Amino acid sequence: MDFSFSQETLMMQETLRKFITEEMLPLQEKHKLDREKPPPADLCKQMRKRSAELGFYGIDMPEDVGGMDIPAADRCLLFEESGKHDNVFANEVFGGAGGPTPVLLACNDKQKEKYLLPLMKGDITTCFGLSEPGAGSDATNIQTMAVKKGDKWILNGRKHYITNGPSADFAMVFASNDRAKRAKGGITCFLVDRDTPGADFDHPQHTMDGDGWVGELVFEDCEVPAENLLGQVGAGFSLAMKWINDGRLNICAGSVGIAKRMLKLSLDYARQREAFGTAIGNFQLIQAMLADMATDIFAAENMMYRAAWMKDQGQDIRKEAAMVKLFGAEMVNRVVDQAMQIHGGMGFMRETPIEHVMRQVRVYRIFEGTSEIQRLTIAKNLLKE
Ligand SMILES: Cc1cc2nc3c(=O)[nH]c(=O)nc-3n(C[C@H](O)[C@H](O)[C@H](O)COP(=O)(O)OP(=O)(O)OC[C@H]3O[C@@H](n4cnc5c(N)ncnc54)[C@H](O)[C@@H]3O)c2cc1C
Repeated sequence: MDFSFSQETLMMQETLRKFITEEMLPLQEKHKLDREKPPPADLCKQMRKRSAELGFYGIDMPEDVGGMDIPAADRCLLFEESGKHDNVFANEVFGGAGGPTPVLLACNDKQKEKYLLPLMKGDITTCFGLSEPGAGSDATNIQTMAVKKGDKWILNGRKHYITNGPSADFAMVFASNDRAKRAKGGITCFLVDRDTPGADFDHPQHTMDGDGWVGELVFEDCEVPAENLLGQVGAGFSLAMKWINDGRLNICAGSVGIAKRMLKLSLDYARQREAFGTAIGNFQLIQAMLADMATDIFAAENMMYRAAWMKDQGQDIRKEAAMVKLFGAEMVNRVVDQAMQIHGGMGFMRETPIEHVMRQVRVYRIFEGTSEIQRLTIAKNLLKE
């Protein structure tokens, strides 16, 4: 197995690093932005469009819709690079949940023109509306109903915790067309415009990591034109799952980047902070934490690139993607905690980015399938083998 990257990929990584450090971070600094709330919409759009120009936005999408269709291993390297920076525009780099995802490859020609292509250019944003108050891990138990009436579908229900929901121009909404069938023909995906009568996206929610990044979507007798159905009636759940393995690798890649940043800060601090007349890096208990952090990161990195390599060989990585997401999410939380410990009281202060990163990464163990659900997926696949 060859772990080296091509010159072209390394150049892309360098271009990305420059884009973040020379364009995004100065803009963040200039406008004094932090993660307490999403940046102003016009600045986000400016950064999205610039990212699209550089080819990063929607990078994993096929070339015929404007993406680069890059191998999973290369994508991991770029997501890792993005994670290394304290960047409030992180969602504008590749798109994330608000940008283009393979779910939208089910668009017909008309839908492609109206939704997918403007999304690829960064002109509009979307959101992925699956979770509901009564259906999170048990996602096929959604209660939002879609009933066909003439040439319209009438949606009734409520989604919550939807990333980019408060800002999205349209939502991918998963609704039940037949409760009894659940994942097997009972869930359909609709493209719902923000201004559709009966749709209300203006319900920002308050989180540990700031306000307004996620929100509720409410549908009350919301009339969605039949032409806004994505793919086939009843095929929504398999569409939703299309993204799952890539999304799980991406979370680990971001986690590895963040963890490397935490390790670097901790090494710098251990060299420079003195106690009992010597640098704290000379204490073996501090050294043990640094060694554990580096080992954890190395393990996550290796698992991730191995799984990405397997995917690039055309192998089914459902089990491995769950392992990578589980380990990456748990790893970054351990590493941030150790970084805070090494920094002592300074780590708890807002003068360092550590307390913010701790709040940022806690959700990695929860969204895109909780750590418990990843373990269930791994065990289910093991027992099937
Ligand atoms: C910041 C944030 C952003 C999000 N973005 C989106 C988004 O863009 N789109 C979207 O659709 N959703 C989104 N979500 C929702 C997310 O996917 C769910 O929160 C997640 O799937 C967990 O569901 P839940 O919160 O209902 O927890 P629950 O499913 O109620 O789980 C509660 C606890 O029970 C455990 N549990 C549940 N079932 C089992 C089981 N069978 N065995 C063992 N333990 C179990 C869970 O692991 C957890 O510990 C987001 C959530 C957050 C917090």
